[in-house]
Amino acid sequence: MANMSKNKVKMPEQPADVRNKNFKEVTLGYSKEQAMEEAERCLNCKNPKCVEGCPVNVPIPQFIQKVKEGKFEEAYKVITTQNALPAICGRVCPQENQCEGKCVRGIKGEPVAIGRLERFAADYAMKNVQKDGEKPESNGKKVAIVGSGPSGLTCAGELAKKGYDVTIFEALHKAGGVLMYGIPEFRLPKTLVQKEIENIAKLGVKIETNVIVGKSITIDELFEEGYKAVFVGSGAGLPRFMGVPGENLNGVYSANEFLTRSNLMKAYDRKNSPTPIYVGKNVAVVGAGNVAMDAARTAKRLGAENVYIIYRRSEEEMPARAEEVEHAKEEGIEFRLLTNPTKILGKDGWVDSMECIEMELGEPDASGRRRPIEKKGSEYTLDIDTVIVAIGQSPNPLIRSTTKGLDTHKWGGIIVDEETMQTSREGIYAGGDAVTGAATVILAMGAGKKAAHAIDESLSSID
Ligand code: FAD
Ligand code: SF4
Repeated sequence: MANMSKNKVKMPEQPADVRNKNFKEVTLGYSKEQAMEEAERCLNCKNPKCVEGCPVNVPIPQFIQKVKEGKFEEAYKVITTQNALPAICGRVCPQENQCEGKCVRGIKGEPVAIGRLERFAADYAMKNVQKDGEKPESNGKKVAIVGSGPSGLTCAGELAKKGYDVTIFEALHKAGGVLMYGIPEFRLPKTLVQKEIENIAKLGVKIETNVIVGKSITIDELFEEGYKAVFVGSGAGLPRFMGVPGENLNGVYSANEFLTRSNLMKAYDRKNSPTPIYVGKNVAVVGAGNVAMDAARTAKRLGAENVYIIYRRSEEEMPARAEEVEHAKEEGIEFRLLTNPTKILGKDGWVDSMECIEMELGEPDASGRRRPIEKKGSEYTLDIDTVIVAIGQSPNPLIRSTTKGLDTHKWGGIIVDEETMQTSREGIYAGGDAVTGAATVILAMGAGKKAAHAIDESLSSID
């Protein structure tokens, strides 16, 4: 008998006043019983709308059916036919706009908690199932991947399954891209990211870290070394700044630097880390996307007393996931909406305060969102010790400036054929944030998969 409750089974989480002082995961995952109860809410639709909403086509009703039956390992196997990173996607995908956004149960109540069930199955398999390395037989053809984020990892995994000899070149000392250096531990534990990467490595994928393509080696040199195709999944790691006076003072960070220092260089582990970050009593985070929420919640955990989100539009236009905004509010982050910084003021070279101006919303602009307009004379000053700028990122120019014939948009994104992800250069494919600008994990994975398919089509005919 289906569970006709209008609401999802609640997922346990750490209380807000406890979790805002530690870096442990906020949400704790379903128990077996909770997962089976939630799975009973799925109607196993003949024409499952949820699958249409999934960029990598996970067979959602089929895996949920296995959870209903208590066959958790089989549920995991069904998911991994299409998605190599389920523990990650179950945690960070914006399901509300994708699978869950299309689920029929969402019409008269909450949709089935597809993300939570995916996470449950992946976590179960990680704890209970020993995965053997099943290296497919090699076809001897070499493919290079630039970047080990979700697009590169997915492309690599798909090609390795088909027998290609795949090497990922990663600029940083750890593989995983934003999954490792951007998204904080309390939302996405790093041991879990590394385990999912290990599963891809078990397919025979080699990962070379500390290699900056464009500096250590160019794409043309990779072709000379015998690689038959190259996939560029180098992401969008170049931060944008506001261009206001005072942005070069000590105590001003891009969100990218702030989160990388916290995640990858373990600045939160102050006793043992050689790279602490300066978090004062009052922290201003400028922007209201997922990156801003992550930076604000990290600053709170690092000991800031007052953390402000400064955003020039209203709550309605905030780009962050609703769940992240909710979590941030519960943890005591203060939202200063319809507010824009005009200058950062310093003392002895360090941030001392920030001047802001109030805004109001005018007519919609080219993005369809109402344009923020300054309210003359409404300037005021906030006591601030640390400023974190989280107003967007673009692709790093290194690849395009060292690869001849690679066409890009003015803003830096690589231009590709949307069906094949092939760039203007034969043999070079690209996907993820390097093509779209900052987007999502699952879209990056979808692009990596498409490119792998096209690379295989093109190379399978070559002897
Ligand atoms: P990336 O993950 O950026 O990986 C690119 C990799 O390429 C990096 O490891 C980089 O070091 C490497 N690289 C770059 N240049 C070179 C080079 N020249 N040579 C070698 N290696 C190179 N998305 C969601 O779906 N849900 C979320 O909750 C979410 N939260 C986010 C929070 C933060 C703080 C950030 C920054 C992003 C978030 N995103 C989220 C967005 C998501 O993480 C990205 O869209 C996704 O990671 C893009 O994947 P990618 O493979 O294109 O690039
Ligand atoms: Fe189940 Fe919802 Fe998908 Fe239907 S749309 S199969 S109810 S998850």
